[in-house]
Amino acid sequence: MSVDTIRSLSAITADSEYDPDSMPVAKARQYIRAFLAPVTTVERLHIRSALGRVLAQQIRSSMDVPSHDNSAMDGYAVRYADLKPEAETTLKVVGTALAGKPYEGNVGPAEAVRIMTGGVMPSGCDTVIMQERARALEAGVTVPGGQQKGQNVRYAGADIKIDEVVFGPGQVLRPAELGMIASLGIGEVSVYRKLRVAFFSTGDELVPVGGNLKPGQIYDSNRYTIHGMLMRLGVDAIDMGVIRDDPAAIETAFAQAAQAADVVITSGGVSVGEADFVKQLLAKLGDVLFWKIAMKPGRPLAYGKIGSAHFFGLPGNPVSAMVTFYQFVREALLVLMGVPQPRPLPVLKAVCTSAIKKAPGRTEFQRGILGQGDDGQWTVRVTGDQSSGILSSMSRANCFIVLPDAQGNTPAGATVDVQLLEGLI
Ligand code: AMP
Ligand code: MG
Repeated sequence: MSVDTIRSLSAITADSEYDPDSMPVAKARQYIRAFLAPVTTVERLHIRSALGRVLAQQIRSSMDVPSHDNSAMDGYAVRYADLKPEAETTLKVVGTALAGKPYEGNVGPAEAVRIMTGGVMPSGCDTVIMQERARALEAGVTVPGGQQKGQNVRYAGADIKIDEVVFGPGQVLRPAELGMIASLGIGEVSVYRKLRVAFFSTGDELVPVGGNLKPGQIYDSNRYTIHGMLMRLGVDAIDMGVIRDDPAAIETAFAQAAQAADVVITSGGVSVGEADFVKQLLAKLGDVLFWKIAMKPGRPLAYGKIGSAHFFGLPGNPVSAMVTFYQFVREALLVLMGVPQPRPLPVLKAVCTSAIKKAPGRTEFQRGILGQGDDGQWTVRVTGDQSSGILSSMSRANCFIVLPDAQGNTPAGATVDVQLLEGLI
């Protein structure tokens, strides 16, 4: 264990506001954030392989995009000065400009060029008449009055200007960013290496899928929800299976996981009663804080370092494991992946159509179904049974209804904050 680690973890426990048994959600996030140092190793990738990766370089444009003034429409390129403002003008069509095949000549008075979308604006022309508004003649075209100078022209550099800093380190590469980088002619980028995340489930009652259940046993589902949530973030996930509630087995698993990965995530084994031997073990292997978060679901959460690996001990209840992942782990992993300011889950206000019982003093993340009324107003209702073992509540939900610490019972018709999950779950 490094001196640095001890120093920072003890700094947390020395904080006068530190209360591991009643840890506000925001405070836990802050504490975790203080430890997170992003990966620094960089690799070069073709942009085709870079989707979802985090950029480790600046992308500066060496050209204007588009690189030339061009037409936004199929129609006729004209000189605005030739047009009569209020009446029809007939022009002679002297040539054609197709996308990729410019009209090479100069366009003189009372002349026009037939032009297609993306065609380079011919020299002398400044305006495009949409073909639907023009009337083609044998050797010319008639344009009605009322045109605007410069209409339907896309100017060089309108999208990206030469020398512009387009992206910086920390930018997540989505399809649009890949396309923008390609539009600059750049085929390879430097990205941070993938974060390695090892995860396992703990519990004597757990059986991996494919096995047969004996009385009292259940299938391990958390490993699949966690795997899925990790895949969405684009990390390298190392599935270490189910580990029995046996100190020696758990110790070996922790040591192996911390060796193999940047982050270790477990589910189960951190609740009261179970925590004690895990606590002792982790005290031996690393430096881990056990918290009771003032939230529902998902009260127990362990966070710390095992060697240089970050450790998240999620609660075993399937809904709690998912909620704590989204509220704490997701953002932490993004920071470790090299995203300095991860965007929080989007929040919007919605009218809650059902009453919700709640005691003040903790943040609740009720599973909700968000929809829109005929008037366009967002409304939300709870999914039904909110117990932390009801995983179908997560499946039915498309959002969390977030009820803050201070709030008590919420009547039907109240406006509530809703965190969107679509695209994440
Ligand atoms: P624990 O946090 O270990 O006390 O577990 C709390 C509850 O979650 C118990 O009912 C466990 O059986 C259940 N549980 C723990 N781990 C898993 C898992 N990987 N998959 C499904 N249920 C689990
Ligand atoms: Mg357990």
